[in-house]
Amino acid sequence: MTYRSIFVAGHRGLVGSAVVRNLRANGYANLILRSRDELDLRNSQAVHDFFALEKPEVVIDAAARVGGIKANVDFPAEFILENLQIQNNVISASFESGVEKFVFLGSSCIYPKFAPQPISEDALLSGVLESTNEPYAIAKIAGIKLCQAYAREYGKNFISIMPSNLYGPGDDFDFDKSHVVPALIRKVHQAKVKGEDQILVWGSGSPRRELLHVDDLADALRFLLENYHSPDIINAGYGEDITIRELVAIISEIIGCKARLIFDHTKPDGTPRKLLDSSRLRNLGWRPRLTLHEGVRQTYDWFLRTSYADVVL
Ligand code: GDP
Repeated sequence: MTYRSIFVAGHRGLVGSAVVRNLRANGYANLILRSRDELDLRNSQAVHDFFALEKPEVVIDAAARVGGIKANVDFPAEFILENLQIQNNVISASFESGVEKFVFLGSSCIYPKFAPQPISEDALLSGVLESTNEPYAIAKIAGIKLCQAYAREYGKNFISIMPSNLYGPGDDFDFDKSHVVPALIRKVHQAKVKGEDQILVWGSGSPRRELLHVDDLADALRFLLENYHSPDIINAGYGEDITIRELVAIISEIIGCKARLIFDHTKPDGTPRKLLDSSRLRNLGWRPRLTLHEGVRQTYDWFLRTSYADVVL
């Protein structure tokens, strides 16, 4: 498959950087990339000018304000507003400048809180949302609807993919913003290096999460870019979920730390479970390559090369 040019929006983020790695590894040389300093995607005029000039053939939209459960609770206004701004600008400019194929990213957290498990694509908008990330979810649902509207009204090939919880190299290890995998990698590493005998885990430990390595998601995005041409949303998950308690056990084993777990019940659990039914994607012929163990080990190796691994004793 060849495309004249592909704009990867948000190429410095967890997903965007993995998308760039995957596209390059698969022979795509013609990528258009802009850092936040070069192009502020919240600025409508700047985004429309950029698209009018560059006229990319394909857009993969990995640009979003994202964060773990704490960041979503602390900054609801920014999570809804900035995501609406970014996606409205990027999707509408893509339409106006004649982009052939547009790939939008939803999330498993935008399905109803009590959706039947595993969650099929049909569950979208069938019930109330999880309160801790409702502003983010409302923005993402609006993005999906805008892509579907362009598809229905103008026949555009704008697709939307729903990943499960993601982790991997490029993750954010700042405790105020991080998701659970990088947060626990850092906490367990700190406990080991400092010789501490306990680790503070947020919530009850019983919520279940489906964790997909970001390199697998990036591969799924490329696969769907090449092979999927429907405005119907499509799930992209790992296929299994585990409890937070089981996740800490895996991370502790990989890092080699025997500290006891203390569960902080003052912190929110978030949604109890969000396991995706990814059978549509599997039936198209794609499946993830990395096991959770391999993926966490590889992410820990990456973490060790960041400044977050330097623990002050
Ligand atoms: P969520 O999937 O949107 O809920 O986002 P997170 O990845 O931030 O959190 C997933 C689950 O892990 C929630 O139940 C958290 O309470 C739990 N958790 C346990 N310890 C931590 C931690 O140190 N940081 C984060 N972000 N979550 C944690």
